[in-house]
Amino acid sequence: MDVDADDVIQSVSTGRMPPAPQVDDILQQAYERAERHHEGRVADYIPVLAAADPDAFGVCVAGVDGVRHSIGDTGVRFSIQSISKAFVYALVVEQLGHQRVLDVVGVNNTGLAFNSVVAIELNDGHPMNPMVNAGAIATTALMPGRSAEAQWEAVREGLSRFAGRRLELDAEVYRSESDSNQRNRAIAQLLQSYGRIDRDPADVVDVYTRQCALSVDAADLAVMAATLADGGVNPVSGERVVSQDVCRDTLAVLAANGLYERSGEWLFEIGLPGKSGVAGGLVTIAPGKVGVGTYAPRLDSAGNSVRGQIATAYLSRALGLNIFASAPQARTPAIDQPTAPMITDAEGLTS
Ligand code: GLN
Repeated sequence: MDVDADDVIQSVSTGRMPPAPQVDDILQQAYERAERHHEGRVADYIPVLAAADPDAFGVCVAGVDGVRHSIGDTGVRFSIQSISKAFVYALVVEQLGHQRVLDVVGVNNTGLAFNSVVAIELNDGHPMNPMVNAGAIATTALMPGRSAEAQWEAVREGLSRFAGRRLELDAEVYRSESDSNQRNRAIAQLLQSYGRIDRDPADVVDVYTRQCALSVDAADLAVMAATLADGGVNPVSGERVVSQDVCRDTLAVLAANGLYERSGEWLFEIGLPGKSGVAGGLVTIAPGKVGVGTYAPRLDSAGNSVRGQIATAYLSRALGLNIFASAPQARTPAIDQPTAPMITDAEGLTS
């Protein structure tokens, strides 16, 4: 990944954000750097996604104080796709608890593509983590609700609370993916054969396909991310969506698995939990500080937005967001200098 962000002002976490005008300047710089990149390809395995404008690009930073900073195409709508996995996971952990979801779905990286069937077989039918399709389908199956329709309403309502507005289904994306999601149906059947889902696999895939077809923009993603950055409270609506513990669990899963088989590289360069989607969206969470939402549909070979990663890498460094970056704390001279050894007097060498 070319992060293109070596010469930036600040690189360690300060514990708080710089003043708003400085955030706006840094956002502008992040945007300009990423905009120069034209590599990557728009996804076309879901046919309707191929119609996206490859040059569309928007970045929104939403603070835990509810203030939003936006640049570019932050109002352009696209389907949330895999980013929904992060938020459905949070809703399911909120309902069923840390241990149950850990046992059924797991938290370890598969190291394989997001839609891998082999990963299921290699792990005796265990989906491994909720950020790949197998784990996400198993997670959606755990969503409370007597019927598929009730589960879908709970998903839509829950994700809408993260966004702070009622999210709508993109019917065209839903239809296009429903007509071409044979692989996800196979994954659901395989999971059923291993006893990992106990609902009708066709219904579960249908709910999962709808959740992926929810229509959002980069500003929605920023607020959704900011809710996870703010201990589960939506900083714009003021509503509590999930608990603090659920946020912590979700962010740990995103740090390990949010960018598929590139998750290690992402964490190394950006140092924050994040989640990408094949329509070109990307969310990043700086706990206690901000959520970042980007939209740019050209993807790398793992299915992650190219410009989104570059802009976020710059923001992470310039805003001092990387959770692994520290500087030695300022010490007073008394602490910094070793004190004279007590032993001198004690041994009577000076008297
Ligand atoms: N709906 C897509 C799928 O299941 C989501 C994948 C993604 O965004 N990576 O294939």
